[in-house]
Amino acid sequence: MSDYSFDTLQIHAGAAPDPATGAVQVPIYQTTGYRFKDAAHAARLFGLQEVGFIYSRLTNPTVARLADRVAALEGGAGAVCCSSGHAAQIMAIFPLMAPGLNIVASSRLYGGTMTQFGSTIKRFGWSCKFVDFDDLAALEAAVDENTRAIFCESISNPAGYITDIPAVAKIAQKVGLPLIVDNTLATPWLCRPIELGATLVVHSLTKYMTGNGTVTGGAVIDSGNFDWAASGKFPSLAAPEPAYHGLNFQETFGKLAFTFHGIAIGLRDLGMTMNPQGAHYTLMGIETLSLRMQKHVANAQAVAEFLEKDPRVDYVTYGGLAASPWHERMTRVCPKGAGALYTVALKGGYGTCVKFVDALKLFANVANLGDARSLVSHSASTTHSQLTEEQQIAAGAAPNVVRLSIGIEDAKDLIADLDQALTAATA
Ligand code: PLP
Repeated sequence: MSDYSFDTLQIHAGAAPDPATGAVQVPIYQTTGYRFKDAAHAARLFGLQEVGFIYSRLTNPTVARLADRVAALEGGAGAVCCSSGHAAQIMAIFPLMAPGLNIVASSRLYGGTMTQFGSTIKRFGWSCKFVDFDDLAALEAAVDENTRAIFCESISNPAGYITDIPAVAKIAQKVGLPLIVDNTLATPWLCRPIELGATLVVHSLTKYMTGNGTVTGGAVIDSGNFDWAASGKFPSLAAPEPAYHGLNFQETFGKLAFTFHGIAIGLRDLGMTMNPQGAHYTLMGIETLSLRMQKHVANAQAVAEFLEKDPRVDYVTYGGLAASPWHERMTRVCPKGAGALYTVALKGGYGTCVKFVDALKLFANVANLGDARSLVSHSASTTHSQLTEEQQIAAGAAPNVVRLSIGIEDAKDLIADLDQALTAATA
């Protein structure tokens, strides 16, 4: 299957006809339990000597098909789906961490992730150091003996900043740590983090992967390329794990160690499970991913070029613009386009931004992105409101900027809506 091209995989990967009925579309297996053939079969499943379905908190056939498809599209060895993008982030770092350990993350991240890593994970005894990933020396210097992962977004929310993944991966390799890339805004159609050196990829499936604002879901994809035993720093993956009667995941499952750990311990004990109905909708959404992303990118480019020239606009942060400081990086990291999420700074600041958001008719003021419909939000007063103004500015969410998530409507209609709202806001 992995020999097929992206457009074929997005429809066929993980979609063998249903063995019970021959159904072509992956059915929704709305069941919690699975009848064991006999007691010995049950014992083999629980002992991980045989792979199969036990209980839907761990695995479910619909969710498993989605995991296979997402792994195929990212070029990974395996994947685990879970209940949200935020759940995926915890699922990705959980096997690596213990009290007193830390991760090093980019200072340009989705505001909710800044809060999750900056505050909430401290309750587990973990911590995060935020660094400007354009300063590679600072990134390397931030890594200490207690660091267990490096984390960034391929294209970051909200400003559309593009991370130099190959350069960051080189540092991760040098210091012997896994690089985790959140590929939500790029999707595997625009960016291939594993090919650029990432160990793990995380997704909020809530966004472009589903593509229509109907599902909350997440995924962790493992490249299968990291040797968890080499440094002795990852005992849960490469030493006898007491939470699974002394199983050594790497010895037992090789390239699928992280994936099996995610199911057998992550989902079993944290319970951040994706529901089968959500997985079914996401499978259907992914069938058109490449088509949608092409339209998202073309519209994002047309709208950015209009805004860039408008005298009422201070600046636009889209990496697809020739003047963008990360335009050259786009050609190496996401050559098919810089995504469809960016910010626009309005002359007049906070007050003008609020009026602009209220004057838009087609763009909806919604706390989401990656939908077929165009959305707008004022990050500083919503998603990034937990941060200090200094952190907001560092994350590209200053009070004078508005975030646009460009949909797949006709670009002419989007530009007309933005034009009339700019007129109303600056009148
Ligand atoms: N990662 C990025 C880049 C996001 O933009 C978001 C949400 O906006 C998340 C992760 C969290 O995803 P979810 O809302 O599915 O938990």
